[in-house]
Amino acid sequence: MKRILAAGLGAALLAVLVAATANPGASAPPPDIPLEQHKGPYTLAPLPYATDALNPVIDTATMEIHHGKHHQAYVTNLNAALEANPALKDKTLGEIFAGVSQYDAAVRNNAGGHWNHTLFWRTMAPPGKGGAPSEVLRAQIEKDFGSFDAFRKAFQAAGMKQFGAGWVWLIWADERLQITTTPNQDNPLMAVAAKRGKPILGNDLWEHAYSLKHQNRRDAYLAGWWDVVNWTEVTRPFYRAAAVPG
Ligand code: MN
Repeated sequence: MKRILAAGLGAALLAVLVAATANPGASAPPPDIPLEQHKGPYTLAPLPYATDALNPVIDTATMEIHHGKHHQAYVTNLNAALEANPALKDKTLGEIFAGVSQYDAAVRNNAGGHWNHTLFWRTMAPPGKGGAPSEVLRAQIEKDFGSFDAFRKAFQAAGMKQFGAGWVWLIWADERLQITTTPNQDNPLMAVAAKRGKPILGNDLWEHAYSLKHQNRRDAYLAGWWDVVNWTEVTRPFYRAAAVPG
């Protein structure tokens, strides 16, 4: 009896082990590995909310096109660029960013496009569901910008000053939070960035992010966007960048 029970338990344990080995991600969420440590081939992750979840701040059609078409194109074109540059296949996104000036525009634009949009989707949430900055993050924002409101105004002003397409960022650099912008799909992890640092939060300044709803009114988009910032999620890259125990 004991032997049969033991054999049964052994078989059950084996089945669990086999299942876990065959499909380690089946029941657990993916590990929180910073995207800059990922290697290709890359895939487009589903949005963490429905495409209509950010209404009325970001409309459904914009979300569908932005995620399903624009971000998908960056992923598809990044994989094609890596196929065309076999020496890059074993490099992480972070390594590609660190040496980005050596590579052609397809690598730079699509690697940036994929990384930037992945952070963007993660750090948004339906209106009213984004929580608030943690006490540590809020204190750091107040220390570096004077007040939370001053930070928001400075972030919007920087977004307005960026000429043409690009991104406005909150970054951790020189042991403090700073605001910077990058053109096109560049980001502050890239060696070519005017100001390098670790991105905490980024807003997309391309017209494809806002023109269906706001036409040319980037200011209206920037001012309204705070309602969908996911401060709970923003805290994670901040803690990682600033090495605050979380
Ligand atoms: Mn975009």
